[in-house]
Amino acid sequence: MTKKQKLIALAKQIARCAECKRNKSGLPVAGEGNPDADIVFLGEAPGKTEAKTGRPFVGRSGQLLRRMIREAGLKEEEVYITSPVKYLPDRGTPTKKDIAHGRMHLAKQLAVIEPKIIVLLGATAVYAILEKVHPILKVHGKIIEDGGKKYLITLHPAAILRFPKYAPLMIADFKKIKKLTGEVKA
Ligand code: URA
Repeated sequence: MTKKQKLIALAKQIARCAECKRNKSGLPVAGEGNPDADIVFLGEAPGKTEAKTGRPFVGRSGQLLRRMIREAGLKEEEVYITSPVKYLPDRGTPTKKDIAHGRMHLAKQLAVIEPKIIVLLGATAVYAILEKVHPILKVHGKIIEDGGKKYLITLHPAAILRFPKYAPLMIADFKKIKKLTGEVKA
């Protein structure tokens, strides 16, 4: 099976997963992008627009994220975009239990894609990967190396929409991505 076929098989598992759907609604949002991406962007959970379309990051936050990806000198087609929680939570924000469950699907997706860099967009992404709660405004910009992968912590684009004064922080963090890819390819 190709990586693409493996990711499609995992998306089908997500679509059938009763635990994923608990206290959530809408279409499953498994993720999209290059199955062989060096860089994965990890968010929180689908919002209303994502739950309607089945695509990650297509609402207001998503448009901002996709613009920032392009402005960081990357192409949307070469990266992979997903979230640890695969359905729209009824309460908007996922619970720790939702994240702990989603982590299992995410781990399988990451094992297929084998990215070198994972950009953690906000506290849920950080908790999903590092299994610890971190104050994002204190730790953003930090790069953590573990198991041959680099994790860059930054803000979630929804935080920038709410608090535009934080935009320069996220832009500065995104500038690091291209540098990291340079290191990866060198
Ligand atoms: N926000 C996220 O964290 N993920 C999505 O897919 C959409 C919005």
